[in-house]
Amino acid sequence: MQVLTRVLRDNVKEFGEYPFLYDGDTVFSNVDGLVQAERIRDLLVATGVQPGDRILVSMPNRAEVFFVYQGAMMAGAVVVPVMYLLGRPEIAHILQDAEPVGIFTDRSSLDKVLGAVQDAGVAPRIWSADPSDRVSCLWDNVEVPQAVRPDPGEEDLAVILYTSGTTGSPKGVMLTHKNLYANAQQVIASSPDRDRGVTLGVLPLAHIFGFTVTTVTAMLGGSIVIFRKFDVVEVFEAIQRHRVRGFSAVPAMLYAMVNSPEANRYDLSSLETVSSGSAPCPVPLIEAFQAKFHADVLEGYGLSEAAPVVSGHRRDMPIKPGTVGVLVAGVEARIVDMDGRDLPSGEVGELWVRGDNVSPGYFRRPEASREALDGDGWLHTGDMARMDEDGYLTIVDRKKDVIIRGGFNIYPRDVEDVLVQHPSVAEAAVVGVPSERLGEEAVAFVTAKPGTVIDENEVLSYVGQILAHYKVPKALKVVEALPRNAVGKVLKRTLKEWASP
Ligand code: ATP
Repeated sequence: MQVLTRVLRDNVKEFGEYPFLYDGDTVFSNVDGLVQAERIRDLLVATGVQPGDRILVSMPNRAEVFFVYQGAMMAGAVVVPVMYLLGRPEIAHILQDAEPVGIFTDRSSLDKVLGAVQDAGVAPRIWSADPSDRVSCLWDNVEVPQAVRPDPGEEDLAVILYTSGTTGSPKGVMLTHKNLYANAQQVIASSPDRDRGVTLGVLPLAHIFGFTVTTVTAMLGGSIVIFRKFDVVEVFEAIQRHRVRGFSAVPAMLYAMVNSPEANRYDLSSLETVSSGSAPCPVPLIEAFQAKFHADVLEGYGLSEAAPVVSGHRRDMPIKPGTVGVLVAGVEARIVDMDGRDLPSGEVGELWVRGDNVSPGYFRRPEASREALDGDGWLHTGDMARMDEDGYLTIVDRKKDVIIRGGFNIYPRDVEDVLVQHPSVAEAAVVGVPSERLGEEAVAFVTAKPGTVIDENEVLSYVGQILAHYKVPKALKVVEALPRNAVGKVLKRTLKEWASP
């Protein structure tokens, strides 16, 4: 039996019935969660869904997303979560690649999904969580006999997650039941102080980070308040109401919290920690968060291919801002040079990781899978990193984002870290652009702190005072906002387009 189903059932035995999901004004207990998941399983089995068939889910965070994920996995199907913010062409691309037999959606995405189905030329069965006369209803009841209920095994595929495509076109990362369970366990084993309290589901459930946070919460017997979109005031209200001690977020959310004038209206004293991941969290932001909320930012690191958590800060170890903490229990790592040879601690190389959480590969992309995963089970993360003597990892940058200017390497992250220390700069992103003379050159994009005006030359000379001359961007552009994806990651691809004349 797939382990997560067993966990849900064991939870009922161990803790009885307790509030599990807070979705707006509705509260679902853990028993409701299990009953609804089983109902979805039966709905799919009765429709003829076979083990291994893909089921696409395109909805904002709402309780039904959890029911559908669990129910589809119980039916032996493979869940394909899709950010509901994705546009019609992006959904059409995923539909063509994953060829799902069914789609679960809701009112907010239905038109877009129907359009994408038409564009992709596919004909899946579609269910909506809200009443619609155009498609079937997710709440339809069907009973199927015990004998025909599938029983997926640990090595069977559970999920295909399309990466956010910040660096190229999205690829479907395959994760097995074992991968998902292993990572949730690794996270729990590395967080000695976690309890059954209430946490916040501000991350999209369609992203692996949000997915795993929910799994961890379910496994701990905890409760989660889910939010359809990130709204600082709703977050403050929920922290106050549920006396929330900790939750997981991305840096853009921490930035919004730090800069919200509303914070003072709420009692946020229960907050002790926020785990940040998905993208680099600048040290000044970590410090500002700690100063304002008296809560620690525990930065961690992960990627979809590792289901996702690789490292994080533990409450029982010192916090080292700027690092992404230590490896979670059960994950091995190596830092290697271009020829795959291990480097001594402190040196920068590509990070390779191995563990039960590591994906078996990309869906229908054997070549990309062979590139990312070697025969010994090492996942080549594509991230440049170093590890200090205490085992703390620092992510230097993505291998693909390194700018080679006249033979010298520039890690955009080095330059970004300096830019955000400038008193007028709020956020920064640096990308490489082609240069006839030097091969590549760096161009910086920044946003201004409220009430300040940026003098481009002055900021560039500030960078020149701190960093080597060759690292100073050839141009600095002030923008209203950096282009970000649904989990708040800067879209470097888009910035490169903006940078090219
Ligand atoms: P794509 O590969 O399509 O561009 P993606 O890389 O955004 O998509 P994810 O799996 O969501 O797909 O992101 C994983 C990547 O996010 C990591 O490989 C790493 O580059 C980056 N990342 C995650 N956490 C951190 C962190 N704390 N600091 C720096 N980078 C991070």
